[in-house]
Amino acid sequence: MYNPKSKEAEEFINDGEILETLEYAEKNKSNIQLIDEILEKASKRRGLNHREASVLLACDIEEKNQEIYALAEQIKKDYYGNRIVLFAPLYLSNYCVNGCVYCPYHAKNKHIPRKKMTQEEIEKEVIALQDMGHKRLALEAGEDPVNNPIEYILESIKTIYNVKHKNGAIRRVNVNIAATTVENYKKLHDVGIGTYVLFQETYNKEAYERLHPTGPKHNYKYHTEAMDRAMQAGIDDVSLGVLFGLERYRYEFAGLLMHAEHLEAVYGVGPHAISVPRIKKADDIDPTVFDNGIDDDTFAKIVACIRIAVPYTGMIISTRETAECRKRLLHLGVSQMSGGSKTSVGGYSTPEPEHEDSSQFEVSDTRTLDEVVRWLMELGYVPSFCTSCYRQGRTGERFMEICKQQQIHNFCHPNAIMTLKEYLVDYSSSKTHEIGDLLIQDELNKIEDERIREIVKSNLIKIQNGARDLNF
Ligand code: SAM
Repeated sequence: MYNPKSKEAEEFINDGEILETLEYAEKNKSNIQLIDEILEKASKRRGLNHREASVLLACDIEEKNQEIYALAEQIKKDYYGNRIVLFAPLYLSNYCVNGCVYCPYHAKNKHIPRKKMTQEEIEKEVIALQDMGHKRLALEAGEDPVNNPIEYILESIKTIYNVKHKNGAIRRVNVNIAATTVENYKKLHDVGIGTYVLFQETYNKEAYERLHPTGPKHNYKYHTEAMDRAMQAGIDDVSLGVLFGLERYRYEFAGLLMHAEHLEAVYGVGPHAISVPRIKKADDIDPTVFDNGIDDDTFAKIVACIRIAVPYTGMIISTRETAECRKRLLHLGVSQMSGGSKTSVGGYSTPEPEHEDSSQFEVSDTRTLDEVVRWLMELGYVPSFCTSCYRQGRTGERFMEICKQQQIHNFCHPNAIMTLKEYLVDYSSSKTHEIGDLLIQDELNKIEDERIREIVKSNLIKIQNGARDLNF
């Protein structure tokens, strides 16, 4: 039954194969010889399959676990250097017809304020985001064919791209909306979205159906095959994720990797990124009622094992997590994070009074974007506002090829430096600016190619003098 090349959800995410994988991993969790062989293979940077990676996840030998963390950290450095890409979510509407039991936007919630932004409100919201310094957004909306039809989403994306306030611009809009048709994915592709993001929530069909009792999202097959439809529609950057806490994490981990293997086997390109959200407290949602919550150590291990298994795939961590937790995960593989986020509809331009809270979940890292940028730099990272890859046509297979050869550095590092400079000149506090300029000096010296270094130096002067959006 298991067939990564099949386009049938239950064949490429096959329950039997996952259960066998978990059994195999459990049986071998202390098998030093096998674990060493897997680590040896992983150290060649070619990734691991779901079975091999599941053994590492289950491994209970402390010394080997330390090797896993060290390798994850090294792979992270090799592929992504010290850059961290920043973005913010933008909630368009929280109208939703689904019954997801972990989400406060579920249709039975009659007391949460329902909000849907008009195009004028979106403009205001985008100006607020631009004034923070953001260049990249993740668009979020509930599923509601009447209130949030695809035409509304498309119009909103066009509005977002068209807002030009001072030196601001949103240059990449990633989209996290419910599974839809090939035709609608084509429309999203045509308005120039960056990545299509859809969390599987859980790969376990039985749990999936129980956790999504009503609404179109109940359909496991339709949801699980969404990325195939997106790829068929020409969207070649897709982003996967599971909501940790719903099901047994080892099951989810194996399912997630099988999904990545499926995309690679059929379309020649794996996921552009993987998100690792954990369930959070929200309006009428109590995360402790879900049995499968994971502690911070397990969470770190999952991130490290994903990093090792799919080295070319970006990893995203949101403000669901605390600053402390995010710091730990940065070392182990995270390459993108949100900053200064609001999970309410319209929350950037108009702070909501408590009795009118429309947010999807509580944010744990409540720092401003400026504070996050400064913190990253103090930790030795280069905050990046780069959006250049997809605008330069480096998407899908092309991106993967460059990334697998560890060449992405040649574009991303100079672009990170230049977009950080834009941020410092236009939006940062004076303290952040000072730290940033010193960091940029250090980073310039790390550019090995003299020609590129000279171009970047001259571009930094141009940026200081008002030029914007210079990129490789
Ligand atoms: N409605 C779309 C869908 O169904 O995929 C858009 C996704 S929703 C706006 C974004 C994600 O938030 C969901 O996919 C889910 O994983 C996550 N989410 C929902 N409730 C959450 C909670 N209580 N805590 C943390 N994340 C949550």
